[in-house]
Amino acid sequence: MNRIMYKKHIPVKRFGQNFLKNDIIIKKIIQSMNLNNFDNVIEIGPGLGALTFPICEIIDKITVLEIDENIIFFLLCHKYNKKMNIILTDVMKFDFRYFFSLKKDVFYRLVGNLPYNISICFFLKMILYNLHIYDMHFMFQEEVAYRLLANPGHKKYGKLSVMAQFFYRITPITPVDKFDFFPKPKINSIFLRFVPYNHKYDDYSIEKYFFALELITRTAFQHRRKLLKSNLSNIFSEKLLLKLNIHSFFRAENVSVYQYSLLVKNFLKSYT
Ligand code: SAM
Repeated sequence: MNRIMYKKHIPVKRFGQNFLKNDIIIKKIIQSMNLNNFDNVIEIGPGLGALTFPICEIIDKITVLEIDENIIFFLLCHKYNKKMNIILTDVMKFDFRYFFSLKKDVFYRLVGNLPYNISICFFLKMILYNLHIYDMHFMFQEEVAYRLLANPGHKKYGKLSVMAQFFYRITPITPVDKFDFFPKPKINSIFLRFVPYNHKYDDYSIEKYFFALELITRTAFQHRRKLLKSNLSNIFSEKLLLKLNIHSFFRAENVSVYQYSLLVKNFLKSYT
């Protein structure tokens, strides 16, 4: 066998298993979450408990969603097993709508050192459940974190930046070096906090905002070097773009998140 065991477990590459091993970083992450014992925490991919067990020391109950059966068995045998609501599932298929409907008026706190292969898709999937979410704390590979945080005019500013910043206030918590994981991934990571802007959806549902923004940003950034007015010509008139101070020489990367939000509102007003 040429794969190395870590705490009696062989990390599974296809599940993106890079376990956090630096106690200082783990402490920093847990402190940044500012947990109360009654918080409703959901962890995505608890793995060998690097974040889960310190969280269990603070809170009464945590729900953990994990795809790897071996890890489930490990968690069931742990001294904190009574504190954990352990669910064997693929989070990309997990029915969050049903899960959130089980308890009314509860706001969940999500945390996860997300497996790199699903991190963006999972993040986008969760936007639709924002009305049930108090905040989310996720680890992203550095490159993805830069895209999430990028400002207009920056080469990393794109569809993901606009989608993320439209729906969340994002705060970087700490950089995490690749040497802080086992096995060591190829690139560094950044741990981020996301707080949903849930006051926005007075006129239309969050689904409508989501799908309108997805369509507009996908179309706008499809040809980055082209002028925005031609990328969006099938959806918006040049007159409307000018009214929103989106000048005729603008490219998708020159438009602020606020201006995209105005485009979304105009789109919803005209098409729904
Ligand atoms: N939280 C642990 C830590 O920080 O050391 C483990 C993080 S590891 C990067 C990602 C974890 O997510 C692994 O435990 C992996 O098995 C789990 N995982 C991967 N894909 C998943 C999926 N689709 N659904 C649920 N869990 C998944």
